[in-house]
Amino acid sequence: MNEKKLCPKNMTREELKGFFSDMGERPFRGVQLFRGMYARGLSSFDEMTDLPAALRRILAETAALFTLTPREVLVSRPDGSRKYLFETADGHLVESVFMRYDYGNVICVSSQAGCRMGCAFCASGLGGLRRGLRSGEMADQLLRARLDTGEDIGRIVVMGVGEPLDNFDELKRFIETVGDAEGLGIGRRNITVSTCGLPPGIERMAEELPQVGLSISLHAPNDRLRDALLPVNKRYNLAVLLKAVRGHIARTGRRATFEYALIAGLNDGAECAAELARRLRGMNCHVNLIPLNRVEETGFCGSGRAETERFRAVLASAGLQVTVRRSLGADIHAACGQLRAKTLSKIGG
Ligand code: SF4
Repeated sequence: MNEKKLCPKNMTREELKGFFSDMGERPFRGVQLFRGMYARGLSSFDEMTDLPAALRRILAETAALFTLTPREVLVSRPDGSRKYLFETADGHLVESVFMRYDYGNVICVSSQAGCRMGCAFCASGLGGLRRGLRSGEMADQLLRARLDTGEDIGRIVVMGVGEPLDNFDELKRFIETVGDAEGLGIGRRNITVSTCGLPPGIERMAEELPQVGLSISLHAPNDRLRDALLPVNKRYNLAVLLKAVRGHIARTGRRATFEYALIAGLNDGAECAAELARRLRGMNCHVNLIPLNRVEETGFCGSGRAETERFRAVLASAGLQVTVRRSLGADIHAACGQLRAKTLSKIGG
């Protein structure tokens, strides 16, 4: 793939209309191209037969329809989830996971190549941040998975590699693009953005993307433990983070979700559960408990069934809404960043 080629997927429908009009073409061509890429999910300009042949030839020579090249696909035997490793035009690796749930298909999208947040349990942070992904690179994770599976995808969680609120402008453009009714029409209520805890970004979400779901990777009930697991906590401690989350709930009227990865012997004890219950009491929130997939690179192990159930029971008896989430794709390294880290170590990246 030529990295210098224009990538129309990085443009919104309105921008494409302007682009064609600058070329001396009718702006409507931009709408046709947008539909071809998103609503019809075509895999070559040549298939866009509603565009004139001469224009299709120009596009094929000067533009890249896909921003990502598939490098590897791993399919989980027990649950059928599919983990993709893609390569960007400038050689960065990006991971996505396609999952089937009772309520429909979900794609977990990465927002950055690498990550600078350095969470202790996460393989993605090991190589640091390479760069933020462009909106088209986020959209192509979904479009590539749709082409591969032949199945529609109705929900998006931005929960893969990277901190999405550290790449806010491109995240917002991505959400606008996939929500466009001329394309995929994925409503904002079907999109959830997960953050490790950046209050300025949470405030921007409340202002600019109020219908999008907010999920917070909490993973610890106090600053001592959270400082050790998520270095971002040294900058924005729990009190500051939870204040921003309360502000988001008040402003949007939406329930927040807290993700809590249960790590054996570290944050899964009864005291941690009681402390977490005290912190979250009275908040309009839901807690997802996720026994961590084993991450060889970090040495952490997920909690067992008994510890998980004990933790859940403490939260539930304090009146919190709590779910133990299936840890999908444990056999395909589905925890954040693990496939990418494995491949980087194989190829010396
Ligand atoms: S858990 Fe998320 S925010 Fe933390 S290092 Fe990994 S990718 Fe970055």
